Amino acid sequence: KQELLWQLKGKENVTLDGRRIEIYANIGSFGDVAAVLQNDAGGIGLFRSEFLYLESEDYPSEEEQFQVYKKVAESMAGRKVIIRTLDIGADKQVGYFQMEPEENPALGYRAIRICLDRPEIFKTQLRAIYRASAYGTVSIMYPMIISVEEVDRIAEIVGEVQEELKQQQIPFGDVEQGIMIETPAAALISDLLAKKVDFFSIGTNDLVQYTLASDRQNPKLEQICDPHHPAILRLIRLIADNAHREGIWVGICGELGADLTLTETFLNMGIDELSVSPGLVLSVRKKVRETKLGEKYN
Ligand code: PEP
Ligand code: MG
Repeated sequence: KQELLWQLKGKENVTLDGRRIEIYANIGSFGDVAAVLQNDAGGIGLFRSEFLYLESEDYPSEEEQFQVYKKVAESMAGRKVIIRTLDIGADKQVGYFQMEPEENPALGYRAIRICLDRPEIFKTQLRAIYRASAYGTVSIMYPMIISVEEVDRIAEIVGEVQEELKQQQIPFGDVEQGIMIETPAAALISDLLAKKVDFFSIGTNDLVQYTLASDRQNPKLEQICDPHHPAILRLIRLIADNAHREGIWVGICGELGADLTLTETFLNMGIDELSVSPGLVLSVRKKVRETKLGEKYN
């Protein structure tokens, strides 16, 4: 079976009736890039940057981060690399952050909330990412967004970073700015958010957990934490419609993106990109190539 899939390397992600989609891969460290290339993903749709912080004894420096992002960007040789800024919280503990224990870590002090509260940490990462953007095609996305105010504040900080780099004559490229849509709040105001960013990436792992009020890590809730719940599909459709109304692209980087029973549904919704584990890229390509959509999407 694997050999049959390998025959799909180099082939396009296009349905029988000509609709194209991007299929990218998710990575957690530089070590995963080999698998991304081996499986012929069109880019990296989610680079979880947490490992840099989790593996470290202290805050990773700008230079340390820059070296890793640069290596990934160079290895991808012009293919898109979407780096997600720090997404830790009380569930992914990092000693040196000295975070207090919380009763509801999933609802707690985490991700973009920490970055906006401690902009020196955020700026260090942004500078590293911007510097790496001179060596490939780099985009940034921000996790756990719930409001327009957060996106406005991020844009201010990004503007400061760009200004500093210019003053220091440090080169950087054009960096697309995106946000993860992984809270019901972000989904419901996606019309407003779409005016502010270049793309959306739907984080279904968290979107399911927050929409269904079901802890994604609790094995007892496996039946209840159902990503096929109609509420989830309605939200995804709403997000896609709002993105396209503003002319921006929308992808899915949560695990649901690799669910082959939904590939046709996602294509029909107009989803532009699916980002999946490297090992699943060719299975999704196969599914797309076997799919025929309705007239509306020709
Ligand atoms: C998600 O929430 O769907 C996602 C892709 O991010 P993570 O799994 O890292 O929370
Ligand atoms: Mg998430």
